[in-house]
Amino acid sequence: MQTADELRQQIDELTAAVARNEDKMRRSQRRELRLLQSEDLKSLFTELTAGLRASYGLQYVSVVLVDPDHDIRHLMMAAGTPVEDIDTLIFVETLSGLAPQFVALSQPWLGPFSRCDHQLIFEGGMELASVAMIPLRVRGNLVGSINLGSSDPTRFTREHASDFLAHLGLIAGFCIENTVNRARLLRSGFTDVLTGWHNRRYLLIRLREELARASRDGTSLVCLMLDIDHFKAVNDSWGHAAGDSVLRDIAQRIESQVRASDVAARYGGEEFIVLLPDTSIDDAERLAERIRRAVSGNPIGLPGGGETRVTASIGIASVKPEARATDLKTIGEALIARADVALYKAKADGRDRVVTAEAA
Ligand code: GH3
Ligand code: MG
Ligand code: MG
Repeated sequence: MQTADELRQQIDELTAAVARNEDKMRRSQRRELRLLQSEDLKSLFTELTAGLRASYGLQYVSVVLVDPDHDIRHLMMAAGTPVEDIDTLIFVETLSGLAPQFVALSQPWLGPFSRCDHQLIFEGGMELASVAMIPLRVRGNLVGSINLGSSDPTRFTREHASDFLAHLGLIAGFCIENTVNRARLLRSGFTDVLTGWHNRRYLLIRLREELARASRDGTSLVCLMLDIDHFKAVNDSWGHAAGDSVLRDIAQRIESQVRASDVAARYGGEEFIVLLPDTSIDDAERLAERIRRAVSGNPIGLPGGGETRVTASIGIASVKPEARATDLKTIGEALIARADVALYKAKADGRDRVVTAEAA
């Protein structure tokens, strides 16, 4: 039988353990959020090295990345960040030979530090006692690792649960893929300089890809075309710079409503297109309504103070290309043309509304 004191002590210990775990979870959520918010390679890699070192109180954190074509390094240089600025970012041609653990690094590896095995990824002469190597994957391929080193021999041992580190690796891999893609786009003429969104050129390429996928999978592709109502009046009343700022704001409002798998682009002056893969007309109409309300719901702040309200009209068209369709260019042009006709009808019917095109 436990005495009341023993029970109370047990409860106190459990309560303390719960508090510690909650604190750990909160810290790791904050850390993940900062990773996800990194918009360029420099801030992402700084978060992944110095950031993790500080927030986990470690002696050493490095990131190893496979970059055989020097692609990532060139992107960083083009953005004005010499690779040497991030001192524990290590680029390699291949992972083989770096450390024996890389032969089959499918889960985080935790264990004692061994100078001869680990000196290449834990560069320098630190007195490390235990280490963790977390695999980084992009689209399923092992592309590197995050390496944590501690002078405490009990910090990383084979007995520790590693799911929490595996999760960090997953998020980091996703962020690296996103940020590299973004850096590529910024250089490739697929980006609209005003909004930072994809431009028409990008949209037309993605339209072909999404049609090919829809034809292969037997799914529908929906095109939403949005045009701001009476936008000339915004320019006329507030000036061109204010108009630009309104456009940026509207792009953000649209973006806040779309899924990561949707393709959103600035199609022309104050026209935006969103492609929705594998989506029904009903779902597309609901999304279009949400976008319309997001644009018109709240006033938009203007750079010189003051605010204005705008509305938008949206045309919807959908297509289900047949299997092995070959004339994807024509199908794509017809899809956009039908969305444009629906948009024109929304304007003619009084603006600030969503209209769906007749089935093709
Ligand atoms: P509606 O679409 O409701 O028929 O009326 P509208 O006034 O919006 O007409 P329209 O679409 O023909 O005009 C678009 C206006 O948007 C004209 C153009 O000067 C302005 N515009 C296009 N691109 C930009 C831009 O990048 N910045 C600014 N400030 N204005 C732009
Ligand atoms: Mg307009
Ligand atoms: Mg227009």
